[in-house]
Amino acid sequence: MEHKFVAKKYWGLGHSAMSGSDALKGGCNDLIDFSIGNPDLVTPIPIIEAAIEDAKKGYTGYGSFRGDPELVSEIVKQYKEDYGMDISSKVVYITPSATAAMYICLKSILDEGDEVIVQAPYYTKYIEQVELAGGKFVTVDTYEEEDFQIDPARLEAAISDKTKAIILNTPSNPTGNCLSLECMKEIAKIVEKHDILVIADDIYTAYSYQEEFVPFASLPGMFERTVTINTVSKNFLMTGWRLAWIVAPDYLTDVFQIINDGIAFTACSVSQRATIYALKHREEIQPKITKIFRERVEYAADRINKIPGLSVINPPKGTFYLFPNIKGTGLTSEEFSKKILEEAHILVLPGTAFGECGEGYVRMSCTMDIKLIAEAMDRLEQLFTK
Ligand code: PLP
Repeated sequence: MEHKFVAKKYWGLGHSAMSGSDALKGGCNDLIDFSIGNPDLVTPIPIIEAAIEDAKKGYTGYGSFRGDPELVSEIVKQYKEDYGMDISSKVVYITPSATAAMYICLKSILDEGDEVIVQAPYYTKYIEQVELAGGKFVTVDTYEEEDFQIDPARLEAAISDKTKAIILNTPSNPTGNCLSLECMKEIAKIVEKHDILVIADDIYTAYSYQEEFVPFASLPGMFERTVTINTVSKNFLMTGWRLAWIVAPDYLTDVFQIINDGIAFTACSVSQRATIYALKHREEIQPKITKIFRERVEYAADRINKIPGLSVINPPKGTFYLFPNIKGTGLTSEEFSKKILEEAHILVLPGTAFGECGEGYVRMSCTMDIKLIAEAMDRLEQLFTK
């Protein structure tokens, strides 16, 4: 990173835990890779076909600045149908991924040194995104014993006069857990009291297994202080299509447009057409996807809980991630990850990649066939039942 042509402010930057995991993969041909949240299944074929048809019809150029108007009205409709929320097209902004959405949002709201609170364990990219946008990253730890809920007192203690926003992510990557409605209501009281913005990274809405997903923005009084990020990546198995959207008060979406004009300008036209189809047909498409991943995490959780030294919240609450507790093995997260990579050819990410309070845990992304999960569990069982 240290080169005269690289801006000095970036000299200290390293690679994230996720991009670094690529380096660990070499060397064994029977590796079972739980490291990245990239679903193994192909995008549902009707979505692909609809996109091809629309591409042939000419949807191949730049689109409207704020997004394909048909997609925007489909999102407005979906908010009404799924959440009973009346939103206008002015509050919707289409972006090329949730990753871009988060960065555009942080760039829009942060002055140098403003603080952003994030629930830990957290999605690893948040730290880079907050810091690259000039903010200070502040964590509020959550614990398995507390069902990974955000403790109101701990949240209030993390707030300072520099706090600009809090990022919420439920269902959560990496813990796979969901914030309860009660917890979200407590958070709502606190953000109102301290006049803080909420960025709800709502990207696993189709994967809330125990309870119906409730958007934070739908809580009384919260729409005016919430930026909601949605993406097709996980909900429709479309990680490669790079398409997402932000729903936020229009005083913010106007700024998003100014910033994104100089970054990506508009989102991919064909992906927007694919998303129109996906949203229109979500009731047929999503339950099939959710069922597959739910079966996988439930199977994996049952098996993990039978392995000496390991345990995991069971039944899993959401997403396709599990965050097993490995404290009973006497190993640290790093040691455990290294051991199972070397001795069982299983790649996971140490919990510490998601914040210090991830010590004693590892993250497993169940984005593979259940037979492969079974094979991994057999190997782990053998390794820890000696
Ligand atoms: N936010 C969270 C919590 C994620 O887990 C991910 C991807 O794993 C993203 C955002 C990125 O989504 P996208 O593929 O739309 O950039």
